[in-house]
Amino acid sequence: MSAPPAGSLTIVGAGLAGALLALLAARRGLAVTLYERRADPRQASPERGRSINLALAARGLRALERAGVMEQVRPLLIAMRGRMVHERSGHAALQPYGQREHEVIWSVGRAALNRVLIEEAARHTGVNVRFNQLCLGADVAAERLRLRDLSSGTHYQVALTPTIATDGAGSALRASLQAAGLVQGREDWLDHDYKELTVPAQLGAALERHALHIWPRGGFMLIALPNTDGSFTATLFLARHGAPSFDSLDSGAVVTEFFAREFADALPLLPQLAAQFAAHPQGQLGTVHCTPWHCGGRVLLLGDAAHAIVPFHGQGMNAAFEDCVVLDALLGQEGDWAARFAQFEQQRRANAAAIAQMALENYAEMRDAVLDARFLRHKALAMALERRFPDRFIPRYAMVMFHPEIPYAEALRRGALQAQLLEELDRGAGAEPEAERAAALVRARLPPLG
Ligand SMILES: Cc1cc2nc3c(=O)[nH]c(=O)nc-3n(C[C@H](O)[C@H](O)[C@H](O)COP(=O)(O)OP(=O)(O)OC[C@H]3O[C@@H](n4cnc5c(N)ncnc54)[C@H](O)[C@@H]3O)c2cc1C
Repeated sequence: MSAPPAGSLTIVGAGLAGALLALLAARRGLAVTLYERRADPRQASPERGRSINLALAARGLRALERAGVMEQVRPLLIAMRGRMVHERSGHAALQPYGQREHEVIWSVGRAALNRVLIEEAARHTGVNVRFNQLCLGADVAAERLRLRDLSSGTHYQVALTPTIATDGAGSALRASLQAAGLVQGREDWLDHDYKELTVPAQLGAALERHALHIWPRGGFMLIALPNTDGSFTATLFLARHGAPSFDSLDSGAVVTEFFAREFADALPLLPQLAAQFAAHPQGQLGTVHCTPWHCGGRVLLLGDAAHAIVPFHGQGMNAAFEDCVVLDALLGQEGDWAARFAQFEQQRRANAAAIAQMALENYAEMRDAVLDARFLRHKALAMALERRFPDRFIPRYAMVMFHPEIPYAEALRRGALQAQLLEELDRGAGAEPEAERAAALVRARLPPLG
């Protein structure tokens, strides 16, 4: 067994996970080289047009705290206390996410957060960030990493020191390992795509700022998250084909008519809707399945490169940040790189599979169930049980979003038990009084949380 790492680490992709990991690894004393295909965001002019934001929750916050960057990140955050559900009638109601003051999630701009993380990583003497460098893949047998300098067009190779692939869902490193037969992987594409639209700041005042807005319409939905400048980023999730679908929204007039029918109260907030709709890209959504995540001690896939998920639980970034925390802890322990990478995979695989499943399930919840009377009854009952048995019953959503000490796999497992229990209590056929029956069921089926 070797001592905790001295030496160098290569990270490919200075996105959310890569930049955070570079910082954490440098704080452990490693010399980190970070390759990123994009230009340096510190020199680029402020972003215009699309402003993409994400929901940050407790798992992600814990990672940012560990990296010591909360002072820089805090001004970027807007608390969202619940879902503001907009019905077709125009009626809107807030469904709180939790029942304690701190049980909120946070809207954060991706570009601003990424920029802070890059700034903080680059400030560290142990980190060398190389922008405009496109990774083409790894040749594990020859121990080389292949790159192209996008400024000069030059192809070059560097030694394959322990390398973390944080190059996102479309990872070039993963693809090269797949091509070499070292990993098996597949991408399960959803048959629904997404498109982002902007609610400008002067119109954003019409929407409650401290909420995640949802216009659930059964087979599809519109959501909107607040930005620090008062604007909102709205996202339409809709089937690619069929009726209605992105295919069917084939002209400005049809788009406007669709919004007028389905999202009448949102339409006035989306100026030049048809032009925005035509100009903004239609994004694909999917789940990445891949095994193994590492090749000995040479390459480890992490974050979206290993396990991209659909965005409906708002957990992809949070899970990627949690990956960084787990790897950081392993960097602090004795062991060689192969052992660390193997342990990382062993600790994270079941959890990544669990959040992938819960993220898919949450699409149905967001676009449909939030308007359902049974869903609302179960939610109210779950909150009541949490108040009565806080050490045994925590709603699944809260376990995922507010309880980083509960692994995703455990949240999925307990969530299934709780769902069954709620179903039985909701049917309410028992002979005993309700409160006693609930207490007996909770005590019998849900052992206290650790
Ligand atoms: C519509 C949508 C909404 C989402 N909402 C949420 C949310 O609310 N909450 C949440 O937690 N997650 C959300 N996610 C998921 C989140 O965006 C990802 O999980 C997160 O970005 C993963 O971080 P990452 O660092 O692994 O990958 P990325 O952030 O994708 O970073 C990859 C980096 O690698 C670089 N790169 C790529 N290829 C190469 C290459 N060949 N060579 C060099 N560099 C390369 C890229 O330029 C980029 O900087 C959402 C995703 C989508 C699509």
